[in-house]
Parts: sequence; structure tokens; C-alpha cells
Amino acid sequence: MSISSEEAGSRPGLKPDLKGFLPDEMSEFLVSMGEPSYRGTQVFSWVHQKCAASFDEMTNLPVALRRKLAEVARITNLEVLSRRSGTEGTVKYLLGLGDGNSVEAVRMKYTYGMSACVSTQVGCKMACAFCASGAGGFVRNLSPGEIVDQVLKMNLDLSQAPQEQSRVARVGWVVLMGTGEPLDNYGASVKALRILNAREGLNLSFRRMTVSTCGLVPGIRRLAEEGIPVTLSISLHAPTDELRDEIMPINRRYPIPEVMEAASFYAGRTGRRVTFEYALIRDVNDGPAQARKLSELLRGMLAHVNLIPLNPVAEKGYQRPSRERVMRFFAILRQARIPVTIRRELGLDIDAACGQLRRRYCR
Ligand code: SF4
Repeated sequence: MSISSEEAGSRPGLKPDLKGFLPDEMSEFLVSMGEPSYRGTQVFSWVHQKCAASFDEMTNLPVALRRKLAEVARITNLEVLSRRSGTEGTVKYLLGLGDGNSVEAVRMKYTYGMSACVSTQVGCKMACAFCASGAGGFVRNLSPGEIVDQVLKMNLDLSQAPQEQSRVARVGWVVLMGTGEPLDNYGASVKALRILNAREGLNLSFRRMTVSTCGLVPGIRRLAEEGIPVTLSISLHAPTDELRDEIMPINRRYPIPEVMEAASFYAGRTGRRVTFEYALIRDVNDGPAQARKLSELLRGMLAHVNLIPLNPVAEKGYQRPSRERVMRFFAILRQARIPVTIRRELGLDIDAACGQLRRRYCR
């Protein structure tokens, strides 16, 4: 059996990472070792349902098979370097990768359940002007197993917290909105979502997953054809090309009209409403004229706007608008009958703007 390095989630020189396998691949892998295919289902369940980090824990496998697996494969196991709890059940994790790099993930508690906001890259190439992750530059893509393991580490943490265990023992929603651009690491991101969806593992519905993008048009179109009905969330942050060029360099490559066309294509293909994220930055994009422009842009679209008063990024000099300005912006969109919400500001107290915790830890 041959599994490509992207499929296996391996970097050159590393043994295949079983956490990056889909159930079929896991069974094929076990069959290629001379085992019956049901062993693949057993291993998949150990890795994803029981969060096993080593083959020794897989007690329903023969000892000889466990030894053999340890020789030919590995299981990605991120190290919790730091865990910070904020208000209202938010927990931010800094997770160490096997090569000395680290990524952030945030667990958020909502009335409907636990949501995991996970990273897809170490650093980011997109250089959005207001973002701490962009400032650090791009380091590397995460493998499917490294993306999935962020969710598994949260589940493990939840299972060890007695006060939470009785109510919500597992993550029920996943958002690819941490550090990195998921569509710039397309194969690993989509594969991670498929693994999280697998019935033999966490069995999370695609409808409970969100892919956030800064507007990579080819990736949006590809995702529309993928056959997985995830929510698409586009970080727009400006209603005109002039302003968006300034704060999001990717706009020079894929300007707003192309992004809007791709968003309509996605909504048409999947029947899913597209979310537009709009970070409100004081005196940059938070004025009434910009709210009116945004309303015009979205009129008639199957869309929803999520306003996010900016988490200030000290080094960048960008500020959070006053509550009054946020409410005015919100009211203009409402008046224009654009579905709009203001994001609940979980995480401000624990540096949950993307990239902030990692940079603090790495200094
Ligand atoms: S906002 Fe997102 S896409 Fe932009 S630099 Fe930060 S992590 Fe990258």
C-alpha cells in the first residue's frame, strides 16, 4: 500500500503519523502489515476516541502488534506548554510540536457546547496589518494529525476536569480560525476536517465546522466542490479595495469583486450562508460611511456579518473602537437588513487575538 506524504501527514524522514490517517487508510495500513482490517478501526478509535498517545495504551491489541506498530509508525502528540483560563470558560493552549515549534488553540464555551478554534500553520504568509501572527512570518504548514491533535488535547483536558466532565465532556464545534490561512494549507486542513468527521472517531458533523479564510479565491472555489458542507467564513475587514489593499495585502491579488463572486459561488454550491468577519478598528474601518458601503456590497447575498471589535495589537498601533461606534456600525447594517451579530468577546483577557500568546511565550 502506498500513502503519499501529504496523506500520511508526514514530513520527510518521519514515520507515518497514524493521527493523520482516515479510517480507510488506517485499515489499509494494518492490512499491509498482515493484520485484519478491523484492527484499523480499533487503532482509529484508540487514537481519536480515547486520545491514546502511545501504542502501549492500546490494550486490546496483541503486544506483538503494538511493538510492530511502534517500529513502523508514530502518533503525533502535541505537548501542552501553557494553558491559560479566561472568563466564561475560555481556555487558551500553547501546544508544542515535535520540531520545537508551537501553535495556539482556544477552547470556547457557548450555551450550545464547546468550540475549538485551532491553527493550521505555524505563522502565516498573509501579513494582515492588524494581526500578530502575520508579524512573525510564516514557518511551516501543520500536518493533518497536528491539526486534529489540537482538538484531541482539548478533549483530554475536558475529560480530566471533573466540574466540566459532567456537562460537556467533548468539543462539539471546530473552527479553523487560529494562526495561519487554512486554504493555504488546503490538503491538510480538509483532511483534518474529514478525520474529525469520521464515524469511527469523533463523528463531528461538517455543519459544525467552519473554515476561515482571508479570501483565497481558488481555495474557496475548490472548497465549494469538496462535498463537505462546512461554514465558510471570509475575513473581509474593509468594504473597498482601496482600504482592503492597505490592511490585507492578499486583496491586491484577489480584490473584493473576485472574493464576492467566489463567496456567491460557495453559497450557491453548498446552500450554506457565508459569514463575513469584520474586525472593527478605530478610525480605520469603523465609520458610518464604511458601514453603508458594506451593506451595499452584501445586499441580496446569502450572507451574515460578524463584527469583531479589535483586540488591540500593541506593536501595530491599532485600537479598539468605542462601544458607541461599534453599536452605530451595527445599527446601519441592521437597518439595511443585513444579518449581523457582534462577536462575544471571549479571550480578550487571555491574549486570544491570534498569535499573541505564542509570541509572548517565544520571546
Ligand atoms: S489575520 Fe489570519 S490570514 Fe491574516 S495574517 Fe493573521 S492569521 Fe494570517
